[in-house]
Amino acid sequence: MSTKISHTISVKHIEKSRINEVDFNNLIFGNDFTDYMFECDFRNGSWGNPTIKPFGNLSISPAAKVFHYGQAVFEGMKAYKDEQGKIWLFRPEDNFNRINKSSKRLAIPEFPKEIFFEALESMLLLDKDWIKPGFGNSLYIRPFVIATESGVSASPSSEYKFMILFSPAQAYYSGDVKVVIAEHFSRSADGGVGAAKAAGNYAAQFYPTNLAKEQGFHQVIWTDSNEHKYLEEAGTMNVFFRINDTLITAPISDRILDGITRKSLIALAKRDGITVEERRITIQELIEASKNNALKEIFGTGTAAVISPVSDFSHQQVVYHLPKISNSFATIFKTKLMEIQYNKSEDTFGWRYPVE
Ligand SMILES: *Cc1c(COP(=O)(O)O)cnc(C)c1O
Repeated sequence: MSTKISHTISVKHIEKSRINEVDFNNLIFGNDFTDYMFECDFRNGSWGNPTIKPFGNLSISPAAKVFHYGQAVFEGMKAYKDEQGKIWLFRPEDNFNRINKSSKRLAIPEFPKEIFFEALESMLLLDKDWIKPGFGNSLYIRPFVIATESGVSASPSSEYKFMILFSPAQAYYSGDVKVVIAEHFSRSADGGVGAAKAAGNYAAQFYPTNLAKEQGFHQVIWTDSNEHKYLEEAGTMNVFFRINDTLITAPISDRILDGITRKSLIALAKRDGITVEERRITIQELIEASKNNALKEIFGTGTAAVISPVSDFSHQQVVYHLPKISNSFATIFKTKLMEIQYNKSEDTFGWRYPVE
């Protein structure tokens, strides 16, 4: 195999690829994994033994702290293949910095940058056939860290496992997303872990999201935990509101995840002369804008779906519908962002990262 593997990472090769078992035309997001995975253990105060090996089950003590105290963080990023077959990442340093920021908040030791990038790039080359060309096809990348020390004393683990998994993904169309504005439950709170990609943030969202689904909605728009007055995030995405031709999104805080799609969209919109306001926005302002027909769009942003338009929102049992519009910002900026990601347009911001 002609792949460039560094001497620091050991590679255990697969015997036979599983790629022919996967139906790439009918992928369910996050269900299939590639041939390889990356694993690196933290023991006696340092990260060691970085290994790329065949994807497979782990053997971990049932007393590992991750199972009892949820000491775990993760990332979500993607690799893309252009028409020449070249592989690209999008702003990967931001994901790297963010997983370490999340780790710090969860008392997990930070991971070295050189090993992260070497592991990622080496594994992408080993699994390169799993990245299908074509606009919308991608490889979803899931780095994560778990506390592996055996022992149920409530203190930070002394041992951790840093891993990277790859899952092939197709273009994702969310359809019309109906959301309900949270009036009781909260995703995060001041001083909490909302700004970290902590596994437990997701677990805590499942129950309120299930309640919303029982009422016929797809997602919850999270509000501030103090007053349930300000609009903050939509499900597991950042959220934007277009009032007339101004884009408004909540400012980054303790409670809000600093999304890479969010900040990329803000930069693209500003470059195109669109007014973007990063400020607090109340439910009241949203409802008034909706009643005055000034509210044109609501959409979520995140790596998995890029941009997901919202068709209806509900507050205090009243449903507000957003009429369909042409030339939506959601469509325009989704295309512009994807054209940069797939090397179809000039990358004036320097966001693309070649894998070779
Ligand atoms: C991951 C995530 C996002 C989106 O971040 P991207 O970097 O754009 O993928 C937004 N909100 C929450 C809560 C998240 O976990």
